[in-house]
Amino acid sequence: MRRLKKAPLAFLLPAVFAMGSAQALAEGIAPPSKEAKAIAQETIIVDGHIDVPYRVHRKWEDVSIATKGGDFDYPRAKKGGLNAPFMSIYVPASLDNSAESTAVAHQLIDLVEAMVYRSPDKFAIAKTVADVKEQFNKGLISLPMGMENGSPIQGSMENLKTFYERGIRYITLAHSLSNHIADSSYDLRRQWNGLSPFGKELIVEMNNLGIMVDISHVSDKAFYQAVEISKVPVIASHSSLRKYTPGFERNMNDEMVKKLGENDGVIMINFGSSFVSKETQDWRNNLTKQKNKLIEELGKDSPQVKAFDEKYRQENPYPYSTLSQVLDHIDHVVALIGIDHVGIGSDYDGVGDSLPIGLKDVSTYPNLVQGMLDRGYSRADIEKVLSGNFLRVWSEVEDYAANH
Ligand SMILES: [Zn+2]
Repeated sequence: MRRLKKAPLAFLLPAVFAMGSAQALAEGIAPPSKEAKAIAQETIIVDGHIDVPYRVHRKWEDVSIATKGGDFDYPRAKKGGLNAPFMSIYVPASLDNSAESTAVAHQLIDLVEAMVYRSPDKFAIAKTVADVKEQFNKGLISLPMGMENGSPIQGSMENLKTFYERGIRYITLAHSLSNHIADSSYDLRRQWNGLSPFGKELIVEMNNLGIMVDISHVSDKAFYQAVEISKVPVIASHSSLRKYTPGFERNMNDEMVKKLGENDGVIMINFGSSFVSKETQDWRNNLTKQKNKLIEELGKDSPQVKAFDEKYRQENPYPYSTLSQVLDHIDHVVALIGIDHVGIGSDYDGVGDSLPIGLKDVSTYPNLVQGMLDRGYSRADIEKVLSGNFLRVWSEVEDYAANH
């Protein structure tokens, strides 16, 4: 990482006046070079997971213009060179396998369609790799869709087909609780010991239709079973590495990453600080542990619990991870299985105020590019990470479905 204090003065002074440098300076990160900005603009950038639909569903905002809050809006996406953010059609785990979960998924898809309907000069739905490429050439931001949590399928291949037709191109099999498809890494109950019998059938049908299998969030066993069953490579749309967050099953361990490599799949690195660094994990675990103890004693609505939470945060400022630590995750995947299996799945708009220094919103992809350049990655390699690897997997999934 290029830290400002190491930068020569001649470089520093013009940078201070460069556009957008105020934020970079405040964060102690040098603004990206012309080359990094050019690569971000000239390369298709696919982000595996951005939670715009649920954010807007909860608190409506017009993201086709600059918004005060949130991590995504059109002007910032353009500035960052983002071309195909996967819109997360996220359904809360509490609604598993219910008519309501299916309804929420449809409503969120409606919302993405409305974004395009209102701003056809800015956004377009993307259902194929060809759509993404064509729309990139037209200067439009593609909005492909991935469903986070398979609960809306409700055990029905008919529902699966309907969602495919509406544009869903990956399904994260489970979210924070074990559902009717798979066990979740966050849920100690392992009701299926991996995938459910329906989950196993579902993967076959997803392959046949051309919907990517997303193993982010599922338990380790569910991951291995999914890889065994799937006839095509799988993706992790927004996961990082357990190596840097020991004990955090939501991230992938080295053995799983190697298996993903053999499967020719891709892991798209989640930027959220607690996905990236042990310090942040520890900070959160400590808070939760102490708070849960108080809740047990006093009940969760006790003012003392709230006061403790505030005091903890004051006394222990949130340890944001850094761009450099995110790059460590990319480096480690490359060290394990090579450059062809890593991408980005930021989780923007999905992880609250926990984004790393240097990667705060969709305008900051050039910082990531700069970081990779500084670490000696070639332009061709950077292009693979920004979209090449993911688009290769998506194409393979399309080809398989076309022949089945
Ligand atoms: Zn998620």
